[in-house]
Formats: sequence, C-alpha cells, structure tokens
Amino acid sequence: MLKDYQLLRIPGPTPIPPSVQLAMTKPIIGHRDQETKDLLKRIKPSLKKIFGTKEEVVILAGSGTAGMEAAVVNTVSPGDEVLVVVTGSFGDRFAKICEAYNLHVHKLEYDWGKALNPEEIKTYLTKHPMIKAVFATHCETSTSVLNPIHKLSASIKEVSDALIIVDGVSSVGGVEMKMDEWQIDVCITGSQKALMLPPGLAFVATSQRAWTIIEKNNQSSHFYLDLRKYQNNIQQDSTPFTPALSLLFGLEQSLQLMEEEGLHNIIKRHKTMKNMTRNAFKALGIPLLTNDKDASPTVTAVKPTDFDPDRLRKILKEKFGLVLAGGQNHLKRKIFRFGHMGYCTPADVLQTISCIELGLANIGKLYSLGIGVNAAQVTYLQEEFHEI
Ligand code: PMP
Repeated sequence: MLKDYQLLRIPGPTPIPPSVQLAMTKPIIGHRDQETKDLLKRIKPSLKKIFGTKEEVVILAGSGTAGMEAAVVNTVSPGDEVLVVVTGSFGDRFAKICEAYNLHVHKLEYDWGKALNPEEIKTYLTKHPMIKAVFATHCETSTSVLNPIHKLSASIKEVSDALIIVDGVSSVGGVEMKMDEWQIDVCITGSQKALMLPPGLAFVATSQRAWTIIEKNNQSSHFYLDLRKYQNNIQQDSTPFTPALSLLFGLEQSLQLMEEEGLHNIIKRHKTMKNMTRNAFKALGIPLLTNDKDASPTVTAVKPTDFDPDRLRKILKEKFGLVLAGGQNHLKRKIFRFGHMGYCTPADVLQTISCIELGLANIGKLYSLGIGVNAAQVTYLQEEFHEI
C-alpha cells in the first residue's frame, strides 16, 4: 500500500483541512506585538458562538485534560464536596483529577454505553446539599454517548446551586452547545476534535456566576492553570504566557471555515454522518454500543458479537490505511469506534463503510457487499434531499 496515505477516522485527533495546515506555516510573530492582539481579537467572536456564550473563552496551550484540570482547580478547593458523573473513561478522568486535588468526590456511575439520568442526579443532590460542583461529560468519547447536558442542567437548577462543569472536548463545534441558555458554568473543549486543528489547545468558557467564585478562590494551588490570569489577559486580547501561535493561526482559519459553513449546517452534517453510520451497521447486522436516543453525532461505537474488532482494525489499517479506534478499559477488544467529526463529510462516511465491508469480507464476516454502503446512501438521500 502507498505508505504516505492514511484515513484517520478515530474520535480525535482528527484530520485537518489543507487551508488550516497551510495557515499554520505562517512565520511566527511577536507574542506581545499588535499582530497577536489583532489575531486574538479576530478569533474571539467566532469562538464564543461555538460555545453559545457571550462570555470570554480562554485559550490554554495544553491538551483537553489541561482544560479539565483548570476547571477543577479554579472552581473548588481541597475538601469541597463535588459530584462527578461517570459514563465512561472521560468521566472517570474528571473524578481522578478531583481526587488528585483532595476534593471530597461523590461518584455517580453509569454502565458504559448508557447516558446519565438527570432525575437520579437531582435526587442525589437533594440528599447531598453540600455538593459545590457537578462535573459531567457531554460526548463520552469512550462509549459514543451524548449525555443530555441541557436536561441535566435544568434538573440540577431545581434543587441545587452547584456549579455545572461540562467536558465538551468531543462535542463542542460538532454538536449544539448553548452554554448561556443551558446555564452551564464551565465548558471545556480541545483543539483536536470538531475544531479541525492539531492537538495542543484547550479552551475554557466560564459563566459570570462561576467567575465570582473563581475570583475569590485562594485555597487551591495553581499557577499555569490559574484562569484569572487568562481572563484578565483575554479581555485585552492577550494571553498570560507565550501562546501556541502556529495553532492560533490554524484556529483563525478553521473558525473561518466554520463561519462559512454555518454552525447550523455543521451540526446538521454531524447528525447526518451519525445516522448514515448507524444505519449502515444496523443493515450489516452488527450491534451498536449505544441506543439511537443517546448516540453522539461525533463518534460511533460498534460492538460486534462474532469477531474480534481489533482483528478488523488491523486489516483495515494494513489494506487501506484506515485507522479506527479500539475500546478503552473493559471495552478493549470488545468495540471499535469510528470518529466522524470535524474535517469529515458524508463522502468520508461512505468511503469508511465501504472499506469496513471489505475488511469484514476479508475476515469471513460479510457475504454480500454493499449492504452497509447502501443503507448509508439511502440515509443521506433522505436527510439531505428528502427523497426516497
Ligand atoms: N474528554 C473527552 C470527552 C475526550 O474525548 C478527550 C480526548 N479523547 C479528553 C477529555 C482528553 O483530552 P486530551 O487527550 O486532549 O487531554
């Protein structure tokens, strides 16, 4: 196979558009010069739109986890009671970060593949009124569940003043996020998912309510992750430390592409890709990990019953350069995950399903080609052209 060829279809990092790649080759500029201020000034409005907020969105040089850790260390202090909703490995990561900072961690765990239950969380908060913050994951990438964050927020508000802190790493930019309207206090994302950039940036958006708490928080130890520094700077179109300038050049271009397509269309494209993928696997008779209601538009987890998903993944990589993700923790060798977010279109879904069918044929698990592709095509026709 041609060596320099890859179809990266994992749920992040994702491929990036050529124009974004090109933008990142621009010569470095002085990070305290007017050009950098102008760049940040141009970036800010589009970023706010993607989060659904009027508040500032701060940009950290670090991966998504840096954003999660920033959310923890700035909002609560050692000994504080927090509730972490765990629906998979990234909820688990939030709990581990909270434990590392000596918080009193309550965990509500759900079976991997299931979504959180807002009513249950409401009841839990009623019984534990000292809980100061609730941490939850929007798209749980490890299982491909999209948790109903707007419903969770509404339920929490009925019984508690706890801050609502959301990991939107694999949702923001591909799925609707209305931070202000849904009354989310902190929302985090990373660059390498729906934002169509390489890894390396974390974004943290914070509500006014959270700011009043963060501003007064002197109990927690932090320096690089002190959001007050970032907030004070971003208000003046600057950053407290040297920003990842090349990634910011890329960010400006990816936001430009997103503006041109329109958020509404981006969300619709992701939904179409989800439905095409799910219908393809249903037609092929291969079970999905999540039900239709809880399924994320950015990633699909497939749970075959009669073959080893890692064997299929190995063949796809060898024959087509197609890279799918495996399962994490107890789902290792039980599932494979197809990331369809960011720089990914329905045409890519058709190609991926088509390659998967050939891979299945190769391991003796497909007897008639085209069934999955056909289902995906029909879904596309129905969704995009309202035909059939
Ligand atoms: N949260 C979610 C939902 C994720 O998908 C990821 C990355 N896969 C992370 C957090 C962690 O991000 P990073 O690897 O960039 O630190």
